[in-house]
Amino acid sequence: MSWWKPKRKYRVRVGAYTDVGQVRTQNEDAYGHYPETPDRDVKERLFIVADGMGGHARGEEASHLAVSALHEAFFAGQQWSVGERLRRAFEAANARVYALATAGMAPETMGTTCTAMALVNGHVHMAHVGDSRAYRIDESGMVQLTRDHTLVEELRRQGVLTEDEARTHPRRHALTRALGIQPQLEVDVLEAMPIEAPQQFLLCSDGLAPVTEDEIRQVMLAHPPQEAAERLVQMANERGGPDNITVLIVAIDKS
Ligand code: MN
Repeated sequence: MSWWKPKRKYRVRVGAYTDVGQVRTQNEDAYGHYPETPDRDVKERLFIVADGMGGHARGEEASHLAVSALHEAFFAGQQWSVGERLRRAFEAANARVYALATAGMAPETMGTTCTAMALVNGHVHMAHVGDSRAYRIDESGMVQLTRDHTLVEELRRQGVLTEDEARTHPRRHALTRALGIQPQLEVDVLEAMPIEAPQQFLLCSDGLAPVTEDEIRQVMLAHPPQEAAERLVQMANERGGPDNITVLIVAIDKS
């Protein structure tokens, strides 16, 4: 055993699944996890979920471009702190999507939500724009780590709407922030969290909304990540699948 190499203290398993749902004709969600085939000694991992919007195929273009641009920029920016790398990668992805949206004779609005998680040096780092979500799940409970950038969530926080009113509000999908809509982007970068294995993280698009947090947690604690991801998407589909559904699960265990 080489004494200078810190021993890996945890192992990471990933599950991911996306589906168009029961109502939409196109899947405008996208996800990615990098490196795509991690070896045992990989030091940095990145996970992304994006939910695109725009006419025709524009939403699909926006979410896929955001995922690839974010991935590229994150791994290129080694000189900064992880939080700063995430912020800059979001800004780079924003510039790419915005440039594509405004190019051409008849520029069209296109944008995307984006929730990203980086696993570096025993810490979890999150950055986020829009209404896709990140949760942390363990034996003791389930915590939503991201704040939805929606009009309805702002009103709920101000006490104008109750929890129940917010959940069923007809304009609950109206975003106050998205990637690719404006030349500048305000990014939520969360404080780094030390890993306390066993622990799971869930990144998901709003298409998972028909499944309750209790159900999500039960499924994630009972099944390995890939099976859990597929089961959760299936549950959303069985309840009408009104939107595209994307689930990305990162399970961290002591090794
Ligand atoms: Mn959606």
